[in-house]
Amino acid sequence: MTASPPLETRRLAPQTGCALVLRAGQHLRITDPLGEQVSDLVSFSLEDRAEWLSSGRTIDYANTIYLTKGHVLYSNRSRPMWTIVEDTVGRHDFLLTPCSPETFKLIYGATGHHPSCFENLATNLAPLGIAPDAIPTTFNVFMNVDVAPSGELAIRPPRSRPGDYALFRAEMDLVVGVTACSAEMSNNWSFKPIDVEVFAGAPSADAASRGEALAASGAE
Ligand SMILES: [Zn+2]
Repeated sequence: MTASPPLETRRLAPQTGCALVLRAGQHLRITDPLGEQVSDLVSFSLEDRAEWLSSGRTIDYANTIYLTKGHVLYSNRSRPMWTIVEDTVGRHDFLLTPCSPETFKLIYGATGHHPSCFENLATNLAPLGIAPDAIPTTFNVFMNVDVAPSGELAIRPPRSRPGDYALFRAEMDLVVGVTACSAEMSNNWSFKPIDVEVFAGAPSADAASRGEALAASGAE
């Protein structure tokens, strides 16, 4: 078994984000290189950007709020956008919105500018035709939210250790936004980078399926 090299590799500096385009069948690996760092993920259909990643639909169909390996992340039109193919952590959040300038005013009492996932997503996705108001609830990779029986939420340090990752297969052509989260509480009060890699096929796939993925991505 030979590892296929990534098509694209980026290290997101702390409290930043990026935008990407992925084709169906390509894989996105989000790695926490230092540990205890959240990464917000959002996506839109490349074909029609009014189709977006839906927390509500996904939780409906998975029947759990804790999405992990094997789960499908759905769009607002109930079409699969992603499948979680590998997950070395097993705890992510899909309840909470990306941290935003208002988050820091309302929850943290910030007065000046504070970097945020929302701003980083909005800035990076704007050139790809996504308006700020179109950004939905993000899939918050490595974010560790406990839910008490009363319904009260507690944001805990991420369970991710250095090198932990989640691998997602794109199930349609996608416009994608990814961040290294800017919120103190979500990241155990220190901001770290996030590694983002795009692969033509599953990085550990055998030669035959890798060839198919490369052929598919070359056929566009
Ligand atoms: Zn954030």
